[in-house]
Amino acid sequence: MDNNNIVVHLTKCINFAAIKHKHQKRKDKEGTPYINHPIGVGYILTHEAGVTDPVVIQAAFLHDTVEDTDTTFEELEETFGKTVMDVVAEVTDDKTLEKMERKKCQIEHAKSCSHRAKLVKLADKLYNLRDLDRTIPVGWTPERAREYFEWAEKVVSGLRGTNHPMEDALDKLFKKWEIPISS
Ligand code: NDP
Ligand code: ZN
Repeated sequence: MDNNNIVVHLTKCINFAAIKHKHQKRKDKEGTPYINHPIGVGYILTHEAGVTDPVVIQAAFLHDTVEDTDTTFEELEETFGKTVMDVVAEVTDDKTLEKMERKKCQIEHAKSCSHRAKLVKLADKLYNLRDLDRTIPVGWTPERAREYFEWAEKVVSGLRGTNHPMEDALDKLFKKWEIPISS
């Protein structure tokens, strides 16, 4: 892909995600627009993790469209191609499963994800844990935030050896919250 094409593809992804998430807000007290999250995940990848693979950045912008909106994998494949869709599929929870089962699946499948999917997952976890560290969502107890940290650490343990800057940033947060690191 030449540079012009990359810009066109990335802009198409951001615009698609912005339209799909337009009615959604984050769970924080301020009710931040949801689109801040996929954009922020892409930003972590480019500006902290040093990732320049356009497929990874496109998947980052689109990573919650199937899980959280009416978007289908077929629509993603038609619009952005199979390579990008495949990465989004790898980071999308199976909504037919119960919530706790889905969370267990994330822990079990982390290790076998592709390198690209691992990068998106690390950035997603880093973004969400920073959000929780900044402010606990409306209706959440500190214990629930802590349980989320503990679960996220178990997922991250299957993603290790993928990207040092993101793993270091995650470890700093786990240390701050006194979350034991899985062996
Ligand atoms: P949720 O799945 O309900 O919420 C976390 C998810 O919400 C994130 O993965 C993120 O997903 C999205 N999100 C939106 N806004 C924020 C934000 N400001 N900060 C962080 N994440 C945000 O959490 P859980 O159900 O996992 O709850 C955490 C723990 O608490 C669980 O491990 C569970 O054991 C326990 N618990 C759960 C209860 C429940 O009803 N589910 C009740 C009591 C305890 P995305 O990246 O897709 O936006
Ligand atoms: Zn996400």
